[in-house]
Amino acid sequence: MRVVIVGAGINGLLTARELAKAGVEVMLCDQGELAQQASWAGGGIVSPLYPWRYSPAVTALSQWAQAAYPLLRDELMADVGIDIELLTSGLLFVNTDDARDARVWAQANATTCEVLDADSLRERWPGLAHDAEQGVFFPDIAQVRNPRLLKALIADLQRYPQVQLRSKTAISSVSGAQASHSASVMFTSGELVEADAVIVCAGAWSAKLLPRAAVPVRPVRGQMLQYETAPGTITSMILRDGHYLIPRADGLVLCGSTLEEAGFDNRTTAEARELLEKAAASLWPGLTEQPPVRHWAGLRPGSPNGIPFIGAVPEQAGVWVNAGQYRNGLVLAPASAALISDLVLGRTPRLAAAPYAPMT
Ligand SMILES: Cc1cc2nc3c(=O)[nH]c(=O)nc-3n(C[C@H](O)[C@H](O)[C@H](O)COP(=O)(O)OP(=O)(O)OC[C@H]3O[C@@H](n4cnc5c(N)ncnc54)[C@H](O)[C@@H]3O)c2cc1C
Repeated sequence: MRVVIVGAGINGLLTARELAKAGVEVMLCDQGELAQQASWAGGGIVSPLYPWRYSPAVTALSQWAQAAYPLLRDELMADVGIDIELLTSGLLFVNTDDARDARVWAQANATTCEVLDADSLRERWPGLAHDAEQGVFFPDIAQVRNPRLLKALIADLQRYPQVQLRSKTAISSVSGAQASHSASVMFTSGELVEADAVIVCAGAWSAKLLPRAAVPVRPVRGQMLQYETAPGTITSMILRDGHYLIPRADGLVLCGSTLEEAGFDNRTTAEARELLEKAAASLWPGLTEQPPVRHWAGLRPGSPNGIPFIGAVPEQAGVWVNAGQYRNGLVLAPASAALISDLVLGRTPRLAAAPYAPMT
């Protein structure tokens, strides 16, 4: 079987890996460099933000994927020697007004959740802002160092002789199979490649290649700042009023993020920098004693309700999609890749597929 995958972000790379493991011949193409868009720009929290506020469809994918991450880490370490820094640092939600919902959700989903008052917060996180009055801590939520994960996946795919990775190769259109020919992709260079299946994993750009009514994915810009601290200064991820800190093992701390409808413009802005600096100060005041060392932006693949589209594209035989993971593409990726691969290969899906079917 021969499959063309459009887009080498986390979804394209992991889908390619699933298929390669099954012996499929894969051509994975990206219009730019491999893995430099949303999947690189993201924070790497291995959980939806405020997980109790999501639909069962997103929860099902994220729980499956969270359970799969440790094995992925172990396999990548063994096969390509790259540590993806899957770190169970926990996530602290500060001053949420729905702590009770969080507790109920945690109980129903067999997840540990601690509800903390102001004194306990100060004792455990002494640098936290003084107006932190209450918190909900999920100690089992992990983070992944997403740029390293992407690097490891590229190195892993390079080990398969039947996988072809093509950067700077934009696809201008995708066509379904007809009586006379298979599904195909047309490159902007004019080259046409036929395949048994074409899978669109083009993130925020996916609706440019597919009927928008079936796959209503739009770009939603997110900006991020990076600070430098001594390792161990901040020990957990912290979230307040929709903004968060992600402390890496080496002391780098990410502060994110914005949610902006700015079309396909993924430049950074002074307004967002100011907003994120204020957010960082409201989370951990000491962090902003030094200016941020880096500022970047990425385009999330926004979808209605954050539920991704994973399945066959209607009326385009042989064309499939795995896109629209919105704010949760990094956590959902192992499950999304498993599901699309099962569907394309005609295997019994490891997860119920119906909630993610493109619209008809
Ligand atoms: C600031 C920010 C913070 C985030 N934090 C988190 C987080 O903490 N946890 C989490 O789970 N998620 C997070 N996300 C969301 C997550 O990053 C995305 O949902 C995910 O990366 C989407 O992956 P993707 O592979 O679908 O898209 P992308 O990584 O954008 O990859 C799509 C690829 O397709 C290519 N492409 C597009 N069109 C074509 C074409 N015509 N031909 C060839 N190639 C094409 C693009 O060049 C791109 O490389 C965050 C996102 C942002 C921006």
